[in-house]
Amino acid sequence: MTFNPTLDAIQTYEAGKPIELVVRKFSINPKDIIKLASNENPLGPSPKAIECIAKNAANAHLYPDDSMLVLKQSLSEHYQVSPKEIIIGAGSDQIIEFCIHAKAHQNSKVLMAKTTFAMYEIYSKMVGATLIKAQSQFHNLQEFLEIYKIHKPSIIFLCTPNNPLGECLDKNEIFSFLKEIHSNTLVILDGAYQEFAKAKDSSKAISPKELIESFPNAIYLGTFSKAYGLGGMRVGYGIAKEEIIKALLKMRPPFNITTPSLAAAIEALKDQEHIKQTLQNNLEQMVLYENYATKKNIAYIPSYGNFITYLFQSPLDSSTIADYLLKKGIIIRNLASYGLNAIRITIGTKSQNQRFFTFFDEFLGQ
Ligand SMILES: *Cc1c(COP(=O)(O)O)cnc(C)c1O
Repeated sequence: MTFNPTLDAIQTYEAGKPIELVVRKFSINPKDIIKLASNENPLGPSPKAIECIAKNAANAHLYPDDSMLVLKQSLSEHYQVSPKEIIIGAGSDQIIEFCIHAKAHQNSKVLMAKTTFAMYEIYSKMVGATLIKAQSQFHNLQEFLEIYKIHKPSIIFLCTPNNPLGECLDKNEIFSFLKEIHSNTLVILDGAYQEFAKAKDSSKAISPKELIESFPNAIYLGTFSKAYGLGGMRVGYGIAKEEIIKALLKMRPPFNITTPSLAAAIEALKDQEHIKQTLQNNLEQMVLYENYATKKNIAYIPSYGNFITYLFQSPLDSSTIADYLLKKGIIIRNLASYGLNAIRITIGTKSQNQRFFTFFDEFLGQ
């Protein structure tokens, strides 16, 4: 069978390895496995969200409220924007897909950082658009601007904090950059880790309201998968001016969010105490990862997310390290597929992180 030739250029996205795989492959007891690979919340979802998911199970035979009005209203209050300026997706991944389909086609160009979230590339290639990747290792807006002036891309991706490296742009830097960008270029600001950045350094925080009021060609993406601990429920959102939201809504399949997912997201947003604990754990434990790296002479990238990237030099090899840890039941993300001798570790709970350090010590001591 022949397929759409755009698929030939696409590599299947490699998601973080699931616990189930480690159980099958190494016969390790699931309770001895820790997953620090997909930037999930190690504290789990808000207990109130869990309760709400259970309550909504009895309504599983009914289609969800397709208007998603209650969740939109909650987000509207949280961010001080109109419900009409919000679109809900099955993860913010789905909004990325809508944005690319809404704006890009065969002759379009899409600009992104050299090392950033892999789905930008996959969806862009799917519509046959030309990818333009900056050359700097981290987001460098001066370079972005130079490339922008030459290529006039239809879409620009800014992932801030950036996954998988963890660097983060300043709000002022982003706003100065956006002033130079034509109103017909869609700027996608992926804020999947913004909650963590804001807690660490307020100069990195982006207000979606201020963003879209200043720049009607920008869209802010948020997700319930990271700080809110609901990766398994698949809820994300886009915030933009109505003109953009209306275009995106044309692509939204009906009932794209399940009833329990909608309920969970609404409860999770209310439970800001849980978010506070999440952010506090992240800040405290991040320091331990930095200190550990310094002590062991390992280079790391200062991170504004809920993960940290360790960079290795030969003879240390990220694939060997990832395999070693996996056999011990510790799943982390090997960044070899990004062409880096590096691993990305999600910041876990105190005891999870201690286990990581113990096994890493063991690896280094061999
Ligand atoms: C996790 C992540 C997302 C989206 O995740 P969803 O689960 O689809 O909401 C988007 N962008 C980045 C950079 C991410 O790391």
